[in-house]
Amino acid sequence: QQYVFDFAEGNTRDKELLGGKGANLAEMTRLGLPVPPGFTIATTACRHYLTTGREPDGLAQQVGAHLADLQERTGKRLGDPEDPLLVSVRSGAKFSMPGMMDTVLNVGLNDMSVVGLAARSGDERFAWDSYRRLVQMFGKTVLGIDDGRFDESLEACKKSRRVDSDVDLDAADLRGLVDEFKHIVYTETGRDFPQDPRQQLDLAIRAVFDSWNTERARLYRRQERIPDDLGTAVNVCTMVFGNLGPDSGTGVAFTRDPATGAQGVYGDYLPNAQGEDVVAGIRNTLSLAELERIDKASYDQLLDIMATLERHYLDLCDIEFTIERGKLWMLQTRVGKRTAAAAFRIAAQLASEGLIDDDEMLSRVRGEQLAQLMFPQFDPAAPREVVAGGMAASPGAAVGKAAFDSATAVAWARDGEDVILVRRETNPDDLGGMVAARGVLTSRGGKTSHAAVVARGMGRTCVTGVEALRVDPGRKEFTTPDGTRVKEGDVISIDGGTGEVFLGEVPVVPSAVVDALHEVTDDGVTEDGVRTTEDGDDVVSAVLRVMRQADRRRRLDVRANADTPDDAARARSLGACGIGLCRTEHMFLGPRRRIVERLILARDDDTRQAALDELRPLQRADFTDILAAMDGLPVTIRLLDPPLHEFLPDLTDLSVRVAVAEATGEPDAAAAELLSEVQRLHEQNPMLGMRGVRLGLVIPELFTLQVRAIAEAAAELRQQGREPRPEIMVPLVAAVQELEAVRDLAGETIAQVSKETGVELTIPVGTMIELPRSAMTAHQIAEAAEFFSFGTNDLTQTTWGFSRDDVEATFFPTYLESGVFGVSPFESIDTEGVGRLVSIAAWEGKETRPDLKVGICGEHGGDPASIHFFESILLDYVSCSPFRVPVARLEAARASV
Ligand code: PEP
Ligand code: MG
Repeated sequence: QQYVFDFAEGNTRDKELLGGKGANLAEMTRLGLPVPPGFTIATTACRHYLTTGREPDGLAQQVGAHLADLQERTGKRLGDPEDPLLVSVRSGAKFSMPGMMDTVLNVGLNDMSVVGLAARSGDERFAWDSYRRLVQMFGKTVLGIDDGRFDESLEACKKSRRVDSDVDLDAADLRGLVDEFKHIVYTETGRDFPQDPRQQLDLAIRAVFDSWNTERARLYRRQERIPDDLGTAVNVCTMVFGNLGPDSGTGVAFTRDPATGAQGVYGDYLPNAQGEDVVAGIRNTLSLAELERIDKASYDQLLDIMATLERHYLDLCDIEFTIERGKLWMLQTRVGKRTAAAAFRIAAQLASEGLIDDDEMLSRVRGEQLAQLMFPQFDPAAPREVVAGGMAASPGAAVGKAAFDSATAVAWARDGEDVILVRRETNPDDLGGMVAARGVLTSRGGKTSHAAVVARGMGRTCVTGVEALRVDPGRKEFTTPDGTRVKEGDVISIDGGTGEVFLGEVPVVPSAVVDALHEVTDDGVTEDGVRTTEDGDDVVSAVLRVMRQADRRRRLDVRANADTPDDAARARSLGACGIGLCRTEHMFLGPRRRIVERLILARDDDTRQAALDELRPLQRADFTDILAAMDGLPVTIRLLDPPLHEFLPDLTDLSVRVAVAEATGEPDAAAAELLSEVQRLHEQNPMLGMRGVRLGLVIPELFTLQVRAIAEAAAELRQQGREPRPEIMVPLVAAVQELEAVRDLAGETIAQVSKETGVELTIPVGTMIELPRSAMTAHQIAEAAEFFSFGTNDLTQTTWGFSRDDVEATFFPTYLESGVFGVSPFESIDTEGVGRLVSIAAWEGKETRPDLKVGICGEHGGDPASIHFFESILLDYVSCSPFRVPVARLEAARASV
């Protein structure tokens, strides 16, 4: 089996085998660009080593043969005391993992060959500096010696010579340092620094293999979702030197600006230096323009090469290069990383230039990048001081006064103040505060904690799990790691894109992209004509151009989850073609909760009817406003879903009240009676209890009230000449019989309203599919349902048996850590389990009823990976929070090209 490949043998498509760096070195070699000769040891060798603990048979011989070939071509020998060949040994996995793995430079130097290098280069200082670097790098990466040991020694040397920079050390100093470094190697490992160059090479290769599994590399892969078993390739490349004097140097460059996407080359150059000096930021670099002054010929050649690379890769490339005594060498290239803004601009530019087509343009940007551009951001130029960090739970930049309870947040917001709600963790009682706040900060919980999920849903900035902060809700303050106390009312700033927390106000700039997205989807033109085109070379134009193509290409419809008229209007303006989920529970909380309480606890028909009569006009007004905001578009209204206890007084509070009253000798009979009622209705597992359709069947008046309110709202709007399109959705259905009962009841009510108002009403009745049983009996359920909407939050909860409210704080961290799953199934759909249920149910539902509309309205509706899955199983629509609508439009299109 071939494990070793010459640079001239591969090409850019071989990333799996040769790693990204190796494949691109091969590609550049094929293009005839000046790449120093070398060879790549394939990932297959690394995988063999990682699974068996030893190099595969034949690897040593193959390396030997390629080395011999390299020696022949360069006319030098590794370790030759007269004129040594030196090589670099670099890692290079399929996916770039910047700075995560190891590199050893100058392999081939020893006590003899350093003399030859000095003679050949005519630069004794350079030779000893190269040797010094080898011993240090080898000591650190191959032998695992703490780099601090070498640094101390280097610092001591500089101090004794009274110089600031290592460039000021002379050959004799460096020679002394080599001795010291070798001594460190000996004392730390009990062995001498290896003088045999081939042994150096073999050990360095092995060290690169091993670096695949360092802690930081594993962590990086987990974050970036790179599989753990790919392994890395190893590139062995002839050394060229940028540190041979003023006519040498090294640099990095980009074919376009990776920060802004602006056209034109962009880069840094450092004369008389080696690669790692640029990255380490030891000295200040020069701009490429200065290179033109220093070495016009190399500069011109470099620009030429960059143009060739861009034309070849049809994308932004970044490169590393070295100039050795006036000769330019290419050390690396790859399609470069870029910011979200640059991604959109570059994709649109390349499409405008005709270099890529419009579908390719879509594949060059990601929904998450669009999401980033949609959030307000902290002014990058503004000074700020980070006091702690946590999870970047929901992006955005929020500034406000710290409030430690929901009521305060609500009260302050009502007075026009910006508020950040600070809690240890949030629960449903905090909803009001979260709605009112600019941002939410918690010291506990992860990216799928209540705070995170709800905040993301509302497009609210959120940072969770800032464990370094001690939040004391009782005293209404939190303490930072350095002991600073932040009290209620103090201003703080949080960055939901990075998880950072700042004291005081950091200035925020709004997103021009959001404004433009709103304006264009309104009717294509702005009132003041600010943004009517997508032809400019700026981020906004680029986003508009990409979105137009996305809307042309996507098959999936995108609706929004919205339950207020404001949210409905926002969603519509951001391109939603309807509401996929209007949750009605919040309409029964707050001041109205008391009325619901009376309804539930009513002992006689009159009391019950009185409560219903009070609620109905309120409900009707809720629906009229939302239906009006979505005039002409479907609005799926879900009948009441939450567990009963949410509408009743808190059991503990009430028990205390009754006990206290009794203890004081003034028993409260009414409270005691209420308590016994609440106790009777109390459930151990409310999420599996009397909620959704179950509540509707036990207290049919509740659902009937809602259906009547919907029908009356629709009739009223129709009478005004509007086109309301409500759809009634029943939650938590497990059996078709449940749905049939509600459907019949709803049918009667709608018919009654029709008769009363004289308006003919057709209101489809459908169901959520959020229990495994309903998914598995979709055939039957579709007989009674006119549409399905998958509630993948509950479906995930009930399929895995995970409590969606608790897992985050308990075992999910362990599960993520140990790889049971790479990402929470509440965040991204578990395609194998939950996804399979969705797919089967959608299919069987359509078998029963070919015109069945099938959508999804769980959190997954706004998650890119999940959207790609829903496209693959041909659902009709996804529904997500208003703010995610553009992201979903883009990802739906990307999923279908
Ligand atoms: C769901 O369960 O996926 C859903 C959308 O309903 P809720 O989140 O309101 O339970
Ligand atoms: Mg649900």
